[in-house]
Amino acid sequence: MIYNEYTFRKSTKNDSDQIKSLLRLCFGKFPEKNGATDDIEDKYMLAIYNNEIVAMTGILPLNKSTYDGYEITWTCTKHEHRHKGLIINMLKECEKNLPSDGNAIYCCCWHIKDNEDINMKNVMMSLEYKLKIQNHIIRQPSNNVYCHDCIYFTTVCHCTDDLYYKKR
Ligand SMILES: [Zn+2]
Repeated sequence: MIYNEYTFRKSTKNDSDQIKSLLRLCFGKFPEKNGATDDIEDKYMLAIYNNEIVAMTGILPLNKSTYDGYEITWTCTKHEHRHKGLIINMLKECEKNLPSDGNAIYCCCWHIKDNEDINMKNVMMSLEYKLKIQNHIIRQPSNNVYCHDCIYFTTVCHCTDDLYYKKR
C-alpha cells in the first residue's frame, strides 16, 4: 500500500504531548498511568498526517517486555485514520527490524466487556498472530485489578485484554 499523505518515523522526546493526547483519546488515562508516556525516545513508530501524530505502535525489546519474548506496546489510531492499514504497515516494519533470534512476539489486546472482539482484531489476523490467553486481564474488583480511568470507565468497567502471540 502507498501512503502519500502519511509519513512514518520513530518517536522522540518532543512527541510527548501529542502521544499523550492520542492515548487519552483512544484509551483514556490508563496508558500514562501504566508508563506509556515514559521514556518515549525511539519507543514508538508513528504515523504523521499534516504534522499531527495520528497513529502509534511499537515493539518493546526483550529487556522491557512483560512477556517471554518481544511485546507490541501501546497501539492506536485516531478514528478518522482507521481502516487504512497504518498499524499493519508500521508493525510489519517493526517486525522486520527485530533480530532474528527466534523469540516470539506478544500482544496484549484491549477490549470492553460488551465487545467480544479485540480492537486489534484486523491487525492480529492480518499479521497472523494467534490467541494465547483469552481475558488474561479482567479489570474488576473481584480480581483486585481495577480499570484506571479508561474511556469506558463507569463504576465497574470490566474492560479486559486478550493475549496474542506469534512464533518466529
Ligand atoms: Zn475500563
